[in-house]
Amino acid sequence: MPANTGAPLGAHKNLETELVVLGAGPGGYTAAFRAADLGKRVVLVDSAGPLGGVCLNHGCIPSKTLLHTAKVIREAGALDGVHFDKPRLDIDAIRAGKDRVIARMTRGLSALARQRGVTVVQGYGRFTSVNSLEVAGPDSSSTIVFANAIIACGSSPVRIPGVPEDPRVMDSTSALELPQIPRRLLIVGGGIIGLEMAQIYDALGARITIVERMEQLLPGADADLVLPLAKRLAARYERICLGTQMHFVSAGADGLRVRLEGKAGATEETYDRILIAVGRRPNGGNIGAEAAGVQVDARGFIAVDAQMRTNVSHIFAIGDVVGEPMLAHKATHEARVAAGVICGQDMHFDARTIPSVAYTDPEIAWMGLTEIEAARRSIAYEKFTLPWQASGRAVSCGSADGLTKLLIDPVSRRILGAGIVGASAGDLIAEAVLALEMDADPGDLALAIHPHPTYSETLAMAAELAEGTITDMLPPKRVRG
Ligand code: NAD
Repeated sequence: MPANTGAPLGAHKNLETELVVLGAGPGGYTAAFRAADLGKRVVLVDSAGPLGGVCLNHGCIPSKTLLHTAKVIREAGALDGVHFDKPRLDIDAIRAGKDRVIARMTRGLSALARQRGVTVVQGYGRFTSVNSLEVAGPDSSSTIVFANAIIACGSSPVRIPGVPEDPRVMDSTSALELPQIPRRLLIVGGGIIGLEMAQIYDALGARITIVERMEQLLPGADADLVLPLAKRLAARYERICLGTQMHFVSAGADGLRVRLEGKAGATEETYDRILIAVGRRPNGGNIGAEAAGVQVDARGFIAVDAQMRTNVSHIFAIGDVVGEPMLAHKATHEARVAAGVICGQDMHFDARTIPSVAYTDPEIAWMGLTEIEAARRSIAYEKFTLPWQASGRAVSCGSADGLTKLLIDPVSRRILGAGIVGASAGDLIAEAVLALEMDADPGDLALAIHPHPTYSETLAMAAELAEGTITDMLPPKRVRG
């Protein structure tokens, strides 16, 4: 057995290890690092050179870098009494800045792997038996014999049948490469990726059309949270087509021709580029799982129990491949459970909620019960909404269209859910997550002193609404007193 030196593939052909982790995204590297810290010999396998998976290399981090650029451009243009020239955009420099952020983060991960003695193997891994994995690397292949495995192989963008392979048709990965800023961009899918990419390309000068087959942008989020964003986008974008399907017509020198079919009828349009953002599908079908006896369903998901164990007791799975929501913070939490269980700890995945965030402008974040879910499951709740006009900080900073709401159990008075739309909503929602995990009631939030003037006060004020103690607005009649 070679030493765990973190050396790249090519240095060794065969490895034997206590734990192999397949996939080095946020789930995979967290599992590998945690298990190494708990004393296991760990091999981490990924087909890409840099660690960090889609999130770090082609997803969360590059999109946040570009969204920051987009936000600064928008905010600079909206400052009262300050007039900047129209921004001059150097796409090559913007791209290079984003790539520097990725490189800095991936270098950090490689250093952490080295310091922990985690062996990193670059190559595409497939199971060949219940305790072996074949890894086809760029230069050679190797066999890894393992006692335990964690599958963290993630997901890939869904493609739309009939849309051809054309460099002008992008998915989130190619769109984040910023190949070029098109004059007219069609985004198919008004979910989180579609909306985040729309904000980036809009700020960089493209005219945006969004096609969403459902009747609302971000169909998983409550309508009141989406409304402030939808209003801002409607004022800026060329078209937002809800309840609409896109059919590809042809690819020509002048652009990509599509037919958009909605309730109002059908139109044909030509776009310079198209971004497909209609969801992601799990990669469970591509890893030779059958050779290990691991069951994969028809869609590519791998079922696990609360300890993240597959039907094969020494093989675990985490992250996008085990089910929705496909979110990095779910994967890292599951990673800690799987690594802990493998290392003999008594752990289960028992989080009460997995928060969701759309890093749009304004940001939208929610956790716990949504009103959509409450209606679907006939759950009774009381709703308390604090409009951000009541927040001095929000009004000062051009965020008066935001809101913070709490959903409360009418009997126990416990917090059931929360939603926020406005600046930093993704950061603010963490307090509500803690409140839910701690079984807090609105009084706990209202009586904790929140710094003034901050956006965080809006959560305390929504709680004061529920308590009937609010002074920055009139309290609701039925709870005033
Ligand atoms: P999504 O499921 O969030 O949104 C896809 C959207 O496309 C939906 O609104 C759906 O109704 C629509 N759609 C599907 N087929 C369509 C069609 N043929 N025509 C028009 N519209 C269609 O998926 P996504 O935005 O692609 O994101 C993929 C995954 O990645 C999700 O699980 C998401 O949560 C995750 N992700 C999360 C973040 C974040 O946390 N900020 C960011 C990016 C991606």
